[in-house]
Parts: sequence; structure tokens; C-alpha cells
Amino acid sequence: MKRICVYCGHSEGHSPEFTTAAKTVGTALAERGIGLVYGAGGKGMMGAVADGAIEGGGEVIGVIPEGIFSREGLHTGVTRLEVTPNMHGRKRMMAELANGFLALPGGLGTMDELFEIWTWTQLGVHNKPTGILNVNGYYDGLLTFIDVMVDNGFLQQAIRDAVLVGADVNGLLDQVIAHRPGVHPRWANGD
Ligand code: AMP
Repeated sequence: MKRICVYCGHSEGHSPEFTTAAKTVGTALAERGIGLVYGAGGKGMMGAVADGAIEGGGEVIGVIPEGIFSREGLHTGVTRLEVTPNMHGRKRMMAELANGFLALPGGLGTMDELFEIWTWTQLGVHNKPTGILNVNGYYDGLLTFIDVMVDNGFLQQAIRDAVLVGADVNGLLDQVIAHRPGVHPRWANGD
């Protein structure tokens, strides 16, 4: 796998375990020779994941829409910076540059990115693997609700299972690298 796109918070959260995990992700990617694609931020979870990858000597591609530089606080150490005309262009470029996706704890922007890439799996737009790093049980409530969707007949179990979940960075990376979600038959049949 050449590159993984990491979606995560602009903030650092209330526990140091969040940024520690983010930095560990960056370090682990660099150790494996996998490039990082991310939102180019220099602070919070985004800054931590980039710091880990940069310190490990890895490739780090930051992708940011023009006009939000000042709000997001650019990381100055990335190996490549891509500026897109808007947020949609950023999401498309991040998805194209990466061979897999990882969501770490974050806020609404992270959820938007995670759900968009998950629905693109459902639609067959890509067949790249996605993982959720469940640091400190951060995603427990969301995963419970995802099961509510399945239990109530609004989400197919296979589409739920297309996204891998783990709390251990290297264990999750091993799974993501090996996983090929494919196109679910419901969508392949066009219904
Ligand atoms: P957050 O998880 O809210 O801290 O945001 C993390 C990143 O998601 C930031 O770099 C945002 O620019 C980006 N993002 C992507 N889509 C959105 C969106 N719809 N609303 C807000 N932020 C977004």
C-alpha cells in the first residue's frame, strides 16, 4: 500500500491519549514506508499524525482548500502541499491520492469525511479499505448506532463490515492493508 489518508480532528481532545495515538499512527506509517495524506493542519490531531510521519522520515502530503489556511494553521513540515479550490476538491484529491483510509477521533469534519468515504464504498466509487481507530472508546457510541441501523433494516451488515475497527494502531493497520471491501451485491445489482 503506497499511501493512507488519515481523517482526524483539528482539535486535540481532552485526553493526551488522542494525540499520542495520532502520533503513533504517523510513526507506524513511516516505519512501513506508507505515505500519509491528510488535511495539512499543524495543530491538534492533524498536527500530531503529521509530526509522527515527518519525524519517521515518511512522505506527508497535506491537502487544503484555499481560503482556510489561517483557520486551520498549516503544518510547515509537510513534504508536499496541495491546494484545492474548495472542500469538495480537497476530499476528492485526498481520496484519489490514497490507497486506504483511517479515521481517528475528531469532530464534525472528521465524521463528514468518514461517512462520505464509507458511502463511496457502498456505491462502489472505490474499493479501498477503511479503518476506524477507536482510541479510548471514542467511537463506541457511533458504532452502537451503526448497529441500530443494521438491526432496523436500514444498513446491510456487509456494508457495516466493510469498515474495520480497532484500538491498536499496528493491529488495525495490518487489517486495513490486507482488506479489499469490493462492491456490495445490493449496489452491483443496481437496486
Ligand atoms: P474536525 O473533525 O471538525 O476537527 O475537522 C477536521 C477536518 O475536517 C478539518 O480540516 C476540516 O477542514 C475538515 N472538514 C471536511 N469536511 C468538513 C465539513 N463538512 N465541515 C467542517 N470541516 C470539514
